[in-house]
Amino acid sequence: MSLYVLLSIVLALSGALLIGLTLLFRMPVADNHRIREEPVRTPKGPNFWRIAVFNSVLSISMVYGLTYLLYAFLFYEEGASPWRMLLEGAGILITYDFAYYLVHRYPFHQWGPLKRVHAVHHTVRYPTAYDSLYMHPLENAIGLVLLMLCTLLVGPVSIYSFAGVFVVYSFLNILNHTGLDLPFFPFRTLSHLARKHDRHHVSMRSGNYASITPLFDLLFGTAE
Ligand SMILES: [Zn+2]
Ligand SMILES: [Zn+2]
Repeated sequence: MSLYVLLSIVLALSGALLIGLTLLFRMPVADNHRIREEPVRTPKGPNFWRIAVFNSVLSISMVYGLTYLLYAFLFYEEGASPWRMLLEGAGILITYDFAYYLVHRYPFHQWGPLKRVHAVHHTVRYPTAYDSLYMHPLENAIGLVLLMLCTLLVGPVSIYSFAGVFVVYSFLNILNHTGLDLPFFPFRTLSHLARKHDRHHVSMRSGNYASITPLFDLLFGTAE
């Protein structure tokens, strides 16, 4: 299977997950499982949809474009042992988790111009799944470039390892924003991450900067 078939499958599944969880949040069945209730449910205006659609197109273009341009440096196509693929995937995700932690904690939360860029995402006070698309396009681009740089650092890796990494990267970005606390498998652990990220959205001064695991927040004392 080619990398682009794998990436297309992951992107289609991410879209389905995003739509499914956004709809679930609004259903009566979610009534006792929302992390926080918005005092007044504000309908999303045209500006939200303009940014959300732009970011969807930007993400898809950047994922295909960057992997195409850097293909020879990032990937190999032959199969690898499951252990090697696991190691490659974990290597990229841990490197990315640390790099994103630093970028999120310092430039995005403390340095003038990028703080203003990140403030766009923080205008969302009560996140639900589709709010994962609401950010300044520069923030979206920085996240994807960071993922590719971490892959470059660890790589070259199998295209299957990268597809696994891209599943975790895309799904967690959506699941962190569900606004739902679902106490059953497989959402119990994921809801913990959603609660952490929901807390992050309360204010620009909240902790919980990491997006994959709570590891670096725990290590550096920024877990809330
Ligand atoms: Zn933030
Ligand atoms: Zn967020």
